[in-house]
Amino acid sequence: MRLAHITWKKAEEYFKSNDTVLIAIGSIENHGTHLALGTDTLIPDKILEIVEKKVDVMIAPTIPYGACDSMTDFPGTISIGYDGLLTVITKITDCLLKFGVRKFVFLNGHGGNISALETASLNINNKGGLAAVFNWWLIAPELNEAWRGGHGGAEETAAVMSVNPDFVDMISLEEMNVKDVSESLKGSGFKTISFKGIDISLPRNYKNVTDNGWIGKDHPKTATKQWGDEMLEATASYLAEFIEEFKKVKL
Ligand SMILES: [Zn+2]
Repeated sequence: MRLAHITWKKAEEYFKSNDTVLIAIGSIENHGTHLALGTDTLIPDKILEIVEKKVDVMIAPTIPYGACDSMTDFPGTISIGYDGLLTVITKITDCLLKFGVRKFVFLNGHGGNISALETASLNINNKGGLAAVFNWWLIAPELNEAWRGGHGGAEETAAVMSVNPDFVDMISLEEMNVKDVSESLKGSGFKTISFKGIDISLPRNYKNVTDNGWIGKDHPKTATKQWGDEMLEATASYLAEFIEEFKKVKL
């Protein structure tokens, strides 16, 4: 059920006997030269479409923006930052708590959102509620190791192919190019460098990490629509099962 599609009277009735709400949070940001800026929002929205056929849960409108301050030098990227996202989530959940909602599932599409969502979740718990952060791209490889991926890599490329192949521009794909900090401090990931084979966290402006934006061991060329379809179906099924269990939690 979609909150945006019902009247306040229906919502009042629903929340008398249901205290769980599902909200997707995405991002509008660079995903390499081959994936749409909305990748992190489009994928959770697709998962929601599948989930709502499998479980009875109230779905609040998706928050399309997230925290991606490191990427705002890439045109089209919009970040509301950690503070902005925490404020938005807190405002939304405070309203819903007032109507009897106690449990929240945050379906997250972007790694940079995790800290704000976890802070919001802790605050919700301190207000008598409970919130889960469901990072879909980290759950998917738990279901099938072959689905593990990076930023704009094959995992996300396959998922966007499942959403709409028109949002993938493989002709414009550029090869991965991660910049080193020095000869012995090699760029190894989104916000890490490798020293003697061990990754150390070293957050940099994303333009200083890569020219084109994709990073991962999963080359986008290996992505297929079938992979995306199977992965999103399995991830949504697991999420639906989790929500069934989560709904039973008594607070
Ligand atoms: Zn992404």
